[in-house]
Amino acid sequence: MKETIYTIPVNEVYETDCECPLCELEKKLERDAIEFSLGGAMMEPDFRLISNEKGYCINHYRMMFKTPSKLQMALVLDTHLMEIRKTLSELESLPQLNETDKKGFLKKGNVGDAVQKISKSIEKTQTSCVICDKINDTMARYVDVLLYMWANDEVFKEKFESSKGVCLKHFKMLVDGATTSLKGDNVKTFLNALIKKESAELDRIQEDIHNFTLKFDYRNQDMPWGTAKDSPKRTIEKLGGYMENEE
Ligand SMILES: [Zn+2]
Ligand SMILES: [Zn+2]
Repeated sequence: MKETIYTIPVNEVYETDCECPLCELEKKLERDAIEFSLGGAMMEPDFRLISNEKGYCINHYRMMFKTPSKLQMALVLDTHLMEIRKTLSELESLPQLNETDKKGFLKKGNVGDAVQKISKSIEKTQTSCVICDKINDTMARYVDVLLYMWANDEVFKEKFESSKGVCLKHFKMLVDGATTSLKGDNVKTFLNALIKKESAELDRIQEDIHNFTLKFDYRNQDMPWGTAKDSPKRTIEKLGGYMENEE
């Protein structure tokens, strides 16, 4: 069996009743990573270096902003901003923006080149995120052990079969992972089982969200809500992954 630090959480989460066990794992990873970034990480120079260089995506800045750790958040921003300003001053002295021809004009090709360089450099500040990297890395391991257990552990396979499927974001992760983590016929068998399960679960979700709309017709006033009441949230989360942590 592969490392238990990954198999145990995957096994445990498949024992809970939820729309996407992988979302549940990701939610916990995200919560822990936010807490670490504003807590224990303060004492870890190696992490601070990476945090200063990469920064965070807007989603994770928002989550950090909502915590009471204002000083820690400010320290993170202060040192990350220093790095960004360093990058900006490097861009300022790009030769393409400073070399001129005999008449004092910038060369046309050089300007285009500089624009690309600046644009790429700024794009990186918007897309790179220490927390996203950490989550993606660990989620890839979870997917790998999930597929390993599906192929080698009958008890887990049954749990997988009786789950409510996954969200479409993690559906894609499982599909992509199947070709790298499974071998031979298992790839085909898994993909078929996954699609069959997901179709059945999406049928269920569709029924719920449809019943939700029917409840708005006065003729259906007395119709019981059944499982439809929280279906808008569950439908969105099934389509795109969980919405923000409710904290
Ligand atoms: Zn999910
Ligand atoms: Zn992020």
